[in-house]
Amino acid sequence: MKVLISADMEGVTGVTFPDDCEPGHPRWEYCRRFLTADVNAAVAGFAAAGADEILVNEAHADQRNLLLDQLDERATLLIGTHKPLGMMEGIDRSPDAVAFVGYHTGAGEQGVLAHTYLPNTITAVKINGEPASEGRMNAILAAEFGVPVVLVTGDDLTCRDAEKYAPSAVGVAVKTCVDRYSAICLPPKASSELIAAGARRALATPPQLTETAPDGYTYEVSFDAAHLAPLATYIPGVERVADLTVRFTLPTMYEAIRCFRALTRVVTSGIEPTYG
Ligand SMILES: [Zn+2]
Repeated sequence: MKVLISADMEGVTGVTFPDDCEPGHPRWEYCRRFLTADVNAAVAGFAAAGADEILVNEAHADQRNLLLDQLDERATLLIGTHKPLGMMEGIDRSPDAVAFVGYHTGAGEQGVLAHTYLPNTITAVKINGEPASEGRMNAILAAEFGVPVVLVTGDDLTCRDAEKYAPSAVGVAVKTCVDRYSAICLPPKASSELIAAGARRALATPPQLTETAPDGYTYEVSFDAAHLAPLATYIPGVERVADLTVRFTLPTMYEAIRCFRALTRVVTSGIEPTYG
């Protein structure tokens, strides 16, 4: 059995503040061990449940966060940025299941370090009218490749979000959200035990693919400043529907998520340091 782990960082044990997951910051350096511990716990659980091939795909920031020399030897690590499928690189290598470790809620939602791709610039993302987190879009993409999401770890609100897009997945809350930058956290040993047990249970639960939409995906993306919407319309098919909001429709999540990622890149070019 092959398992893919997509490892983000905002939803990891002990991470509650931007410095904790900002590459290069001393707090990030400290919290990398918590990220590695959460991932190792998932690897241990999946291995105990019979997984014999486990690929971990780095999914946070420039995707060079995990401590390779401390990674469980039963896993391999896909490390580095500029991957065609980004957070979901590896989903095209026929895994039997995918796990989201260290995930978080979406832009504009309550939750520890809630955001969707860009920390503040994007204030909301809707897919077919429903608020959509990174977890939701990644789960739909996985379903297009025939792969079910079996495990989601993060704060309690991330687990609640996952119940909507991956109802059969096991959710493991490693912290309870107090506010966007604060949470009641489990120590790493305690959360590792929960994650390992969750991963074991995840492979024993009959998996269910996330629902896909036969008529395609309409994204509505809202920004925190009106000058950003016209930039997004440089991308063919992206239209401005309000001062702060653009929209596009594509037939598959594979195409939609690539368009969304392109949009985040184009919009980033228009963000000024102080005024945004
Ligand atoms: Zn992240």
